[in-house]
Formats: sequence, C-alpha cells, structure tokens
Amino acid sequence: MRNTMRAAFLPGNSTVEMREVPVPEPRHGEVLIEVKASTICGSDIRAIFHEHLGKGPEGYQGVIAGHEPAGLIVETGPGCRRFKAGDRVIVYHISGCGVCNDCRRGYMISCTSPEYRRAYGWQRDGGMAPYLLAEEKDLILLPDSLTYLDGAQVACGFGTVYEALEKIGINGNHAVLITGLGPVGLAAGALCRKLGAEKIIGIDISQERRDIAMRLGLCDTVLTAGADNVSLVRGLTGGRGVERAVDCSANAEARAVAIRATRKWGKMVMVGEGGTVTFNPSPDIIHEQKTIYGSWVTSTWLMEELVERLVRWNLHPEDIVTHRFTLDQADEAYSLMASGRCGKVAVCPTSE
Ligand SMILES: [Zn+2]
Ligand SMILES: [Zn+2]
Repeated sequence: MRNTMRAAFLPGNSTVEMREVPVPEPRHGEVLIEVKASTICGSDIRAIFHEHLGKGPEGYQGVIAGHEPAGLIVETGPGCRRFKAGDRVIVYHISGCGVCNDCRRGYMISCTSPEYRRAYGWQRDGGMAPYLLAEEKDLILLPDSLTYLDGAQVACGFGTVYEALEKIGINGNHAVLITGLGPVGLAAGALCRKLGAEKIIGIDISQERRDIAMRLGLCDTVLTAGADNVSLVRGLTGGRGVERAVDCSANAEARAVAIRATRKWGKMVMVGEGGTVTFNPSPDIIHEQKTIYGSWVTSTWLMEELVERLVRWNLHPEDIVTHRFTLDQADEAYSLMASGRCGKVAVCPTSE
C-alpha cells in the first residue's frame, strides 16, 4: 500500500481541490477502508460546495469530502470486536461519542457531545479518497448481494428516507405524495413501492428529475411544480388528497403543497433540509386532524434493518445512480450534482 493518496477537498468556491495526503493508519477500534463508492448528497452542495454555509453539525472543517461511503476493510486496528479485513461495509456517516443518550439509541446523528460528535466529510475525513479511516462502531455490514453503490446510498439518502417512512407508516392503503424528486425523493418513491403504496405522485420543477422518476417506475404520476398542485393532487385522489406526504424539496411552496394536499387524518414528514414554510395551522392541519413529522437521518439499528429489507425486496439503490465518475473527475461530479440535471451522482475512488 502506498503511503500517500490523492483526496478531494471542497474549498467552497464551487470547485474541487485534489490534494496529496498521508494514508491513515487505524488505531484502537478503527478500521481502514478501501473506498469503492462515494455518492454526493444535496447537503454537500447546499452547505459546502458553493460556499461554506453550514453551522454546527453542518459546519465543514476543511476535511476530505464525502459522507456517503461504502468499501472494503483492508486493515483493522487493535481492539476491533466484530469487523475484520475483507468485510464489505457501509459507513453510518456520523461518528458519535457512543455514550450520550442519543448515541445509546443509535442516533449518532444527534449526538450531544460537542467534543466527540464528528461527521465523515464534515468534521472528519470522508470518502472522497482511496482510503477512509472509520470507527468500527460506525459500520454496517454490506451483504454480498448488495453492491457498493447500493451501500453508499444507504449511508445517507436511503437510510434517511426509510426512517421518515417508518415514522409516518406506509402501506397498501396509501396514496403518497413526494415533493422534490432529487435522489432523496427518488429513494422515497422506491421504498414506498416496496412498502406497498398503491399510488405515488411526485412533484418537481425539473423535467430531468420527473423523467427519471417515471422511467424507473418510482412514481405513477408526476406533476410540474406549480400553483395548481394541491387541486391536481386532490383530483388524483378522489378529491380528498393523499394519506401520506413526504417533503424532499426543502422548498417553501412545495412544503405547503405537501401539507395542504394531505387529506384529513393524514400524515406528512419533512426530510428536505433548510428553508422555511408558511401555512395556516387551523384550516391546514388543526381542523383536519393532520400530523406533521420531522425526521433527521436514521439510527444504526434501523440502517441495519434497511439493509436486510433491501436484500429481501431485491431493491437496489444503485438503480437511481445516473452518473459515475472516477476520483480524478470529482470536480465534474460535484458540478453535475449542483446543476440538478441528474439522479444520484457517484464517485468510485477505487475500482472493484
Ligand atoms: Zn447525505
Ligand atoms: Zn453521543
């Protein structure tokens, strides 16, 4: 193994900077992973790529980018208890302290330790490099029947969506509205299908993304984002609206549509980050007995459950990857993701 490697950093001016850095060595409880797939997230673009806007958990500390990695363990440090060299793994993308209440629930995303909570690709080195140093406690075993590109998407997007859908509960009684058909919205469509949703309606402003959702069979109907969306969704659902709605857009108008197009007694969940929303509590939710949930990433145990379900369902998150790049093309990969003219964008730092 070489002593140094080329890794991608995001200086915050809509470019990627490649730098030569040392290949890390695993210490106690850590593993060295050969990164096979590293996908790009909307949050990378929103909070880091164009400008370093993130604060707190979204504060980028100038580390190697990429928080959606999957790869092969090539070396383990002393004291590892479960994983070994040769294991294929997904990295749950936030390393928590392990002992606060949130970490003990498996929700390291909301770890309360300012000293020890560090997200891969945000506050500690991430997956846009040939090798990644990870803590053993952050790993999820990737089953043989899933690809590394499947795994990378579980690390953030699919895991996040699965959690949100579990909160509102999806089954065959439901028509579901998905606002925002970026990779997270597409993941919502794919998982709603397997959970049995009978009718899936998607809304997006981008023609490319609406086309991807229809081509992959993840929505039954797609609508162009617009002022008539609530009445169109009602028209598609017997005049009543959907039983369940998932906002993956973070757009104020789309969120209001998701709330208003949900029928009486229905549930909606917000996953898309940032921005605002305006609605009128009495007519929009109180008098209609609606529930609005918020959902942030997922837990390590639910991520393990999702991986098991993906195998059972023969569902491959890789199917929503529309573009793949080598690490040297990382610049192109981030620019494409920033354009929104794509499904999921992946970088494969080392080939299989
Ligand atoms: Zn992500
Ligand atoms: Zn913690």
